Amino acid sequence: MALIVQKFGGTSVADLERIRNVALKVKKELEHGNQVAVVVSAMAGVTDQLVGLVRQISPLVAPEALEEYDAVVSSGEQVTSGLLALTLGEMGIPARSWFGWQIPLISDSAHSKARIHDIKTDAILQSLKTGKVAVVAGFQGVDENGRISTLGRGGSDTSAVALAAALKADRCDIYTDVDGVYTSDPRVVTRARKLRKVAYEEILEMASQGAKVLQTRSVEMAMNHGVRVQVLSSFSDAEGTLLVDEEEVVERRKVTGIAYSRDEARITLTSVANVPGVSAKIFGPLAAANINVDMIVQNITEAGKETDMTFTVPRGDLQRAVAAVEKSRDQIKYKSLHSDATVAKISVIGVGMRSHVGIAQEMFEALAEKGINILVISTSEIKISVLISEEYTELALRSLHTAFGLDG
Ligand code: ADP
Ligand code: ASP
Ligand code: MG
Repeated sequence: MALIVQKFGGTSVADLERIRNVALKVKKELEHGNQVAVVVSAMAGVTDQLVGLVRQISPLVAPEALEEYDAVVSSGEQVTSGLLALTLGEMGIPARSWFGWQIPLISDSAHSKARIHDIKTDAILQSLKTGKVAVVAGFQGVDENGRISTLGRGGSDTSAVALAAALKADRCDIYTDVDGVYTSDPRVVTRARKLRKVAYEEILEMASQGAKVLQTRSVEMAMNHGVRVQVLSSFSDAEGTLLVDEEEVVERRKVTGIAYSRDEARITLTSVANVPGVSAKIFGPLAAANINVDMIVQNITEAGKETDMTFTVPRGDLQRAVAAVEKSRDQIKYKSLHSDATVAKISVIGVGMRSHVGIAQEMFEALAEKGINILVISTSEIKISVLISEEYTELALRSLHTAFGLDG
């Protein structure tokens, strides 16, 4: 008998009919003679609504406010876990709901983006042994103080993979509203192709560069614990995408996927003194404000005395970032500050980059051909990212998809 963890995202549990469809997927797995633990997200749109309610009351700066944020936004998953357990029961399948604190799934206290520390499996394993399907509310845990935590947006993926690792499950199936991982977001790039297999490192880069099909931490978790993860559709029986080690990907290609993120904003400081320590003066206050700086580029003037510094931050942090830099203006001594929240980041990703040269050149040429200006560039061993004006996002994605021979 195998133990399978199945995870169903928001669209898959969006209404009672879809919850029934999910119950049938669970039933099918049971009919194969397997034990099943299910992880569910909130109904589509519910978490956004809950976040909206909280924001109407609180600017979320105080730590206590984030504790209550988690108390509120975790509730969507509680509803769906109860509804699915009820639906299974009505179908004659014994099941019970599990909330984060009941398992318990213990996290740190970084409310709104908590990390999992430990999952106690005794109670849930005991319940599975009695033949009950475990229906776990994703996205939530409990911290050491007994406060409810949430794992960051899209965090149910991480709940599922972490649970699969803790239960030593044979498989973790992530059911969503597309039937696998594609070469690019299939909702934007209609010619995107489904990948049968994708290397952990590639999907990790794709996720961290904006492809929301899996939460980045869920991929890290799968990689570190060797969890066998599959991404597949709730709405069809099509074969999905398997996450595998790099050596297992047989199809050799230069570029595997293209991701984009609109969650970007750019800040440029002009005429900063080009002296040792100036970068620390700029980025220190941003780190202190817990703002994540991503891309950085520096242009030194001919005389070498001054430099323009451009960097990117998450769009939602732009105002706070500008405030933090302006507060340190006397120490940094820049001439002017310009910010722009209408930028997007496009990334081409592939382990093939380790063995192919000239991919950056091909990328820049494809963008130049469409008249798309590159604002900032950053690279890693298997990724090249460019910052462009947001209005060209779709054009850039589609052009690069064609240029790298990915069109289906
Ligand atoms: P769920 O609610 O099931 O967790 P998400 O909306 O979080 O679903 O993630 C699925 C979505 O990810 C898809 O609808 C698709 O638009 C988007 N996506 C972005 N990049 C990709 C990609 N490379 N492959 C597949 N889907 C992608
Ligand atoms: N419901 C949560 C969200 O919308 C978690 C998830 O769907 O994975 O972010
Ligand atoms: Mg998701």
